[in-house]
Amino acid sequence: MSIPHGRSRTLVIASGNAGKVREFRELLQQLPLELQPQPDGMEVEETGLTFAENARLKALAVAAASGAWALADDSGLCVMALGGAPGVHSARYAATDPERIARLLSELGDQDDRRAEFRAALCLADPSGQVLLEVEGCCAGVITTAPRGDSGFGYDPIFEVEGSALTFAEMSPDRKRAVGHRGRAFALLQPELHKLLNDQ
Ligand code: IMP
Repeated sequence: MSIPHGRSRTLVIASGNAGKVREFRELLQQLPLELQPQPDGMEVEETGLTFAENARLKALAVAAASGAWALADDSGLCVMALGGAPGVHSARYAATDPERIARLLSELGDQDDRRAEFRAALCLADPSGQVLLEVEGCCAGVITTAPRGDSGFGYDPIFEVEGSALTFAEMSPDRKRAVGHRGRAFALLQPELHKLLNDQ
């Protein structure tokens, strides 16, 4: 299917999270896309064992339900000394952000090896069930011994970015976007998406 010159293509953001939808809008604003939210009340079960699998499940389900291209992400924090936990269970590790942080700090205890990485997988799918693009971005760091900083969300206050001496929660949103896992995944996606739109 081709898009007449000057027209934009509809792209559904496969997420019910308002913060993520805002971030996606900012990151995609230069492209000829008409961004839409996913169908109301849509909940896709994240049964995959990897971030990439979960992003694929969400993108394919939302593309099929909406009849348009859909872009999904899945992300989380992997701690080396915990065998990669909480990983794909990052959102479900405990009930609230402070409880998730408390559980992680308690499971890590006074362990010397505090290496960790945030990962973000992005998947773009079409309504026929085809995966159009898949990328993954990551950001390496260490888990601090106590929370620091007030910005951001989730595990941001206990994740110190490698080489920066700052946690994500101590960084400006712009800085976090530049060095963070989601920003890096988007940087990989953007030229590919551009090419795909030009080829239509
Ligand atoms: P998702 O919505 O399934 O991708 O779940 C991601 C979960 O991982 C979130 O609920 C957070 O707990 C955590 N997470 C992902 N990205 C970040 C981040 O940039 N900062 C802090 N926590 C994050």
